[in-house]
Amino acid sequence: MRVYLDNNATTKVDEKVLEKMIPYFSEVYGNASSMHGFGQESNKAMEESRQKIAEILGVGANELVFTASGTESDNMAIRGVAKAYKRRGNHIITSNIEHPAVKNTCKDLEKEGYEVTYLAVDENGLINIEELKAAIKKETILITVMYANNEIGTVQPIEEIAKIANEKKIVFHTDAVQAAGKLKLTPKETGIDLLTISGHKFYGPKGIGLLYIKQGTRLGKVLTGGGQEKRRRPGTSDVPAIVGMAVALEAANNHLEEEFKREADLRDYFEDELQKKIPEIVVNAKGAPRLPGTSSITFKYLEGESILLSLNFKGIAVSSGSACSSDDLQASHVLLGIGIPVEFAHGTIRFSIGKYNTKEEIDYVLAEVPPIIEKLRMISPLWGEFTNNK
Ligand code: PLP
Repeated sequence: MRVYLDNNATTKVDEKVLEKMIPYFSEVYGNASSMHGFGQESNKAMEESRQKIAEILGVGANELVFTASGTESDNMAIRGVAKAYKRRGNHIITSNIEHPAVKNTCKDLEKEGYEVTYLAVDENGLINIEELKAAIKKETILITVMYANNEIGTVQPIEEIAKIANEKKIVFHTDAVQAAGKLKLTPKETGIDLLTISGHKFYGPKGIGLLYIKQGTRLGKVLTGGGQEKRRRPGTSDVPAIVGMAVALEAANNHLEEEFKREADLRDYFEDELQKKIPEIVVNAKGAPRLPGTSSITFKYLEGESILLSLNFKGIAVSSGSACSSDDLQASHVLLGIGIPVEFAHGTIRFSIGKYNTKEEIDYVLAEVPPIIEKLRMISPLWGEFTNNK
């Protein structure tokens, strides 16, 4: 059996999404900026997709800009605000568990003279609203806090953050890449100024992102080039991907609540059973509002990579930390951020359940994980030390 439990890294493109995309590679392939019929047909499909997404998000179609990834949208938002509001101030507030697309953008801006406050989070990954209020100063131009975390699934109190930012007239950006397609997003009602999403996290194609820019929010240019996207983002529009993202978001939106419940039930069952079967494990962020399918488990006294490889051998795909940190073997800043000691952070595995996962698959994983952990612990010096001292 092959079981894909890495849906936070990326998802399979929905067959219906793929079907809707294909004509825009082979039949309606004109450049959406061209004035001839070929181009205008592409442009029409793009604008219909923009309208569809705008209706789902409850925003104006003119407030949506297509980009090539969540990473690009995050950069465009953060660097764009930094540039446009430079005269007003140089201070940015973020959390210490952001995705690298935000974290490393902030780090880079520090080198350019911006000051960044990284808010600490509690053991569940939640920021403290009082600390956020206290961090604000007259130079603060941007608050960027992720909607939901990719490693542990924690959903931040976005409405409260937005309220504070709005009161202080500070631009509020949220990276909603992991939230889109799983939670109902209402940026306008919530008071969000800038919101990032990415197609490949909700059964759409890779390489397509979106930035919601509330009307009136100023952004300095990050990329220079042609006049596409009303001069806000240059580059030939990727119409097949735009069509795919809109269809995927619509499909997710049509089943939001029932799929949330189905995945949350599967996750709870998985976590309960795992805790019954294996000693010395921790379910991370269990006490927080969480994404339905994200389960971050710390298997104490083990290395995540050896668990990952053993599971891979059994056809089970998971992630240690986040996909983006799986190339470097440093402990995840998210896990350290929620207070997990470095040696235990290394033994953490993210199981991320998606819409194609079934109870049978979860049962297969529940049967395979315990013997793997037992075997690995038998050869773990840390486990030996722990059991000897008991
Ligand atoms: N933000 C979060 C929270 C993510 O999980 C990811 C992807 O892992 C990104 C941003 C980056 O999105 P993309 O892969 O589209 O660049």
